[in-house]
Amino acid sequence: MKELSKDELETYSRQIVLEDIGYEGQLKLSEARVCLAGLGGLGSNAALQLVGMGIGYLRIIDRDVVDRSNLHRQTLYDVNYLYYPKVEVAAKKLSQLNPNVNIEPIPISLNSDNAEEMIKDMDVVIDGLDNIETRYALNWACVKHRVPYVFGAAIALYGNVSTIIPKKTPCLECFIGGLTNSMLPTCRILGVHPSLPSIISSLEVSEAVRIILGKKPNLLNTLLYFDLKDLSFEKINISRRENCQVCGPNPKLTVKRKLIDEIRSKDEKRVYVINPRKNLGLIMEDLYSLIKDKGLSVRVKANLGITFYYNLKTTISMLKSGTMIIEGANDKEQVISLYEEFVVKGLNIPWSDID
Ligand SMILES: [Zn+2]
Repeated sequence: MKELSKDELETYSRQIVLEDIGYEGQLKLSEARVCLAGLGGLGSNAALQLVGMGIGYLRIIDRDVVDRSNLHRQTLYDVNYLYYPKVEVAAKKLSQLNPNVNIEPIPISLNSDNAEEMIKDMDVVIDGLDNIETRYALNWACVKHRVPYVFGAAIALYGNVSTIIPKKTPCLECFIGGLTNSMLPTCRILGVHPSLPSIISSLEVSEAVRIILGKKPNLLNTLLYFDLKDLSFEKINISRRENCQVCGPNPKLTVKRKLIDEIRSKDEKRVYVINPRKNLGLIMEDLYSLIKDKGLSVRVKANLGITFYYNLKTTISMLKSGTMIIEGANDKEQVISLYEEFVVKGLNIPWSDID
């Protein structure tokens, strides 16, 4: 059996002393595999705690680049990394916090085509997402592969947490099914208090750790509602739906990947994201040469993504996975033609790999 080194014992001394964790618990943590979906406000804080605690393996998934409006609450980033892929900055900072943790950064847009691959070899999945449709894809994959999923959400001054053990407790579809992104408010519109994500994500981590340690989570069959306004925690009993489309007898996928998402508009600009069918694993040096050959100016050249100016009003971030974020495009037609120019023709990737 594995033993903890002198350094590990010292690093984790303040949690090993806890009755809830102890030496055996620390060994379990060091062998655990956790997937963190989304690296915004919830994900930043959850990642820091998990890595600090000495989790064995952490897969971090996010499709965004760092934006100035993230910095007030997303504790992994700072002004030096604007327009860098979040997963790359996160992996760098997290490995400085604890080099013993194996961190796998994946710069993709999580969706129904790739969710299974992302979670099936994990012990637990933690929700750091910002939209319901991606959560449905994640919930569906977790139910299918029986991977525990700690759901969390935070907006304005309130947040939710629930712990889902597939086929045993209600799944996400059971208790908040049938919604679309367009029905729900976003942080851009309603805002988010920086105190909120750290509280909600701390509760998520605490639940995930209980699962890893083999202890009963506190939020089974329960939706926790927290309000920062009066610091109230309310627990709502929830139950499984007999004919749930995801965890019921005839499971089916309720969301499908969209090739193009129109996610938000910033400064009156539209922002589009292209989500290819699979991880294209682009060769970033080839992409960089292509952009330079076209005489375009590069804002950021990172290992997992490049951000460049297409023209005075359009900024493009291209991630290694093939996800493309376009700020300031006119419409979907122009977005497709940009993808055609840089990926299909520029890097010789066939459309059959994309959609
Ligand atoms: Zn269900």
